[in-house]
Amino acid sequence: MESLKNKIRKEGKVLSETVLKVDCFLNHQIDSKFMLDMGKEFARLYKDKEITKIVTIETSGIAPAVAAGIYLDVPVVFAKKSTSSTLNNDTYSREVKSFTKNKVYNILIAKEFLNPNDKVLVIDDFLAYGNALVGLNEIIEESGATVVGAGIVIEKGFQPGGKELRQSGLRVESLAIIESMNENGIIFG
Ligand code: 5GP
Repeated sequence: MESLKNKIRKEGKVLSETVLKVDCFLNHQIDSKFMLDMGKEFARLYKDKEITKIVTIETSGIAPAVAAGIYLDVPVVFAKKSTSSTLNNDTYSREVKSFTKNKVYNILIAKEFLNPNDKVLVIDDFLAYGNALVGLNEIIEESGATVVGAGIVIEKGFQPGGKELRQSGLRVESLAIIESMNENGIIFG
């Protein structure tokens, strides 16, 4: 998505060769109209797939997921993050290693919000090592629902998540893929 690449070039801050900060439109302040443009693009990519639900992870996945949910006309479920691992019969949960915070947390989804008839589109803000996406996919599969594909706002192509997930057979659509970045700029794939 050319407009997203331009926005990342203009507003993104390269914190290091592996971490991009986009707090001005995605991770802290949200550019509402632009979020809708991205949601429209996700919906265009998956329009023929009979998606019944979007699943994401709090916090930064929620805005793009809701934007896509508006255009696909389906509900959005977001996995909650928890630091304690209390086992609960009413929820599905997985441990996920956080790329940015370098710690392990649990993600939880109440069983009542996923059912075996669901065809799910998974949306997230970033794809790095793929841990968040793998955790979400495992929860969805445990519920009996089908993961139709993933929609990612920014994939860092130099980290292995995207490649590994595609090799496993998952459809992964990223609106922008960064091949490399440093203080001199960002190169997109
Ligand atoms: P993964 O699970 O694929 O390793 O990492 C994805 C998660 O880590 C995303 O949900 C996102 O919140 C966070 N993340 C990974 N890389 C970046 C980054 O470069 N910038 C920001 N802001 N978040 C990132």
